[in-house]
Amino acid sequence: MTTTVIKNAAWVIAWDEAPGRHIYRRNVDLAFDDGRISFLGQGYAGPVDRVVDGSTRLVLPGLIDIHSHPEHEPLYRGIREEHGLPSMHMTGLYERSQALSATDDDARAASAEFAYCELLLSGVTSLVDISPPWPGWIELFARSGMRGFLAPGYNSARWYLEDDHELNYAWDEARGRAGFAAALGVIDAALAHPCGRLSGVVSPMQIDTCTAELLRDSHRAAKERGLPFTVHVAQSVSEVREMIRRHGQTPVQWAEALGILGRGTILGHALFLDSHSWIRSWTKRDLAILGGSGTAVAHCPTPFARYGHIMENFGDYLRAGVTMGLGTDCAPHNLVEEMRKAAILARIAARDITTVTTADLFHAATAGGATALLRDDLGRLAPGKTADIVLIDLECPQMQPARDPLRSFVYHAADRAVREVFVDGRQVVGDGRVLTLDQKAAGSRLRAAQERMEAAAPGRDYRRRSASQITPLSLPLAE
Ligand SMILES: [Zn+2]
Repeated sequence: MTTTVIKNAAWVIAWDEAPGRHIYRRNVDLAFDDGRISFLGQGYAGPVDRVVDGSTRLVLPGLIDIHSHPEHEPLYRGIREEHGLPSMHMTGLYERSQALSATDDDARAASAEFAYCELLLSGVTSLVDISPPWPGWIELFARSGMRGFLAPGYNSARWYLEDDHELNYAWDEARGRAGFAAALGVIDAALAHPCGRLSGVVSPMQIDTCTAELLRDSHRAAKERGLPFTVHVAQSVSEVREMIRRHGQTPVQWAEALGILGRGTILGHALFLDSHSWIRSWTKRDLAILGGSGTAVAHCPTPFARYGHIMENFGDYLRAGVTMGLGTDCAPHNLVEEMRKAAILARIAARDITTVTTADLFHAATAGGATALLRDDLGRLAPGKTADIVLIDLECPQMQPARDPLRSFVYHAADRAVREVFVDGRQVVGDGRVLTLDQKAAGSRLRAAQERMEAAAPGRDYRRRSASQITPLSLPLAE
């Protein structure tokens, strides 16, 4: 057993169990034995193998990201920031995923390695990685040192466009069933990995691309294994309209009717509820269904904000009793920026500064995500909890003056102040650098992979356009 002590930490965000919230503590020691926190308080006097000076540090529980797609999102840097179709209520999801996606396994590996580095450098220690399975995924994730909730995606239908306004579905239930079986195999392999940090989430991809039977069977498989279940729901106006056309119900109401909501279910996005101003359904039940059932929502504000979409609003979801967590559904994979945007966008949506607090967003990025994943040992610093720990440099210029270091971190410094990260008691970031992966090398492979992806676009796009016609550069290029 190895005991590490963070000695005389200037600030610690500690977990206060009775009220179930984070609190500040000052000038305390935090000790962990291998992967478990053993002491948090003043004057630690037990055995020590390693001492970390905490006098210039804010100590946080590791952040928990409950929604991401590392195998392709970094490939979209420079491509998706301003890509969207006004004729599809601004979303670019369907056009982009048809024309542009990872062309090969090296593209996926480079993209994932790059994303894992971004995540570690912004203080994420637990990640839900929703990806189609690819060879080498489990080994790369294990090597990253992060805690992994691998969510191999599958579906019964794929989207396709023949024009810029109608979303079509090509159904193939046999493919969905095969994907489901393969996903359970990947999850079993992750759980059996000797690193002990990998687990799984049963992940039929989207509510509109899966049959009722596949969704029900997937949810049952998750329950039987004691694993979380996730599916994208209410992520676009097109999807909500399609589900009402098929079932006479919103996607959330249909999910309730199928029996797939409740504790352990994470809905990706759940942005366009029946009460949303872009939907304005005659029902006003969706939020109450989510809150009453114990369902969690993975909120990822950045990709939607870029389209002009906004959740209405984060504070109302909390007050309805929804378990709120955060995710990074695009590059950059920076959960601190997501906290900041979620707070500001909620206040804009509500026209009210009191609708959410910084504490609400930090809770979502830590304990909220842990609750969604059925893991109350994560996202909290207290004796007995898991030693997933992030150290923030109070002397980083953007942290100064660190009167309220959480606000300095969330609204000012973000990833620039992350110095050390421990997962399961093992150090994976030191002096602001990832110790387990090679971000620079992954970056050059990523650029080559992006070129291959762009080259394939004309053969996949419904208008046979080049990537630069689908998504032009931000400025004209001189002749
Ligand atoms: Zn997603």
